[in-house]
Amino acid sequence: MEHLKKYINEIKDFPKEGIVFKDINPIYKEPMIWNELMIPLQKLISNIKPDYIAGIESRGFISASALAFKLDVGFIPIRKPNKLPGNVVGVNYKLEYGEDRLEIQQNSIEKNSKIIIIDDLLATGGTASAAGDLIREAGGNLIGYAFLVELTELQGRKRLDTNLLVESLIKY
Ligand code: AMP
Repeated sequence: MEHLKKYINEIKDFPKEGIVFKDINPIYKEPMIWNELMIPLQKLISNIKPDYIAGIESRGFISASALAFKLDVGFIPIRKPNKLPGNVVGVNYKLEYGEDRLEIQQNSIEKNSKIIIIDDLLATGGTASAAGDLIREAGGNLIGYAFLVELTELQGRKRLDTNLLVESLIKY
C-alpha cells in the first residue's frame, strides 16, 4: 500500500494551523487506485459479515457507502449535530480545541446487530471512539473499525476498543 501514498497530497495548515491535512481525493479520482484500496477492505468485511456498515460524516461516507452497496449490506450514517430528522441519539466528544458531537437516528439499529464503523482517516481516535460509543448506546454490537489511512504517531488506536478489529490500509 506504500506506493499509494503518491496519490495522497499533504496540505499544511489546513483546516487550521499546525495540521498537515492528508488529501485522499486523488485516490477516489482513479478507479484502479481506489479499487486497489477497497478490495482488501471488501474481503475483510465480507469475511466478518456485519449487518450494517456505519460511516462517519462526511469523508467517511465515501468509502463506507461504496462498500455497503458493493457488499449488499445496509448503510447507517453517523452525522454531525442537527442534520438528522426525528429523534436522535448523540455523544459529545473532545477535540484538540473544544468539543464536537455525533448523532445517529434513534431506532436505526436493531438490538445487537453487528456493525463496523468506517472512516477515511484515524488521527487521535477521538472521532472513531465517539462513533463507537454511539453505536453501542443505540443498541448495536460494535465489531470493529476500518480506516483508509492511519496517522500512527497520534496513537489513535489506543483510544479504541482493542478487543475489536481495528484495520487501516495506509499507515504514516
Ligand atoms: P481524530 O478524531 O483525531 O481521529 O480525527 C479523525 C477525523 O478527522 C477523520 O474523520 C478525518 O477525516 C479528520 N482528520 C483528522 N486529521 C486529519 C488529517 N491530518 N488529514 C485529513 N483528515 C484528518
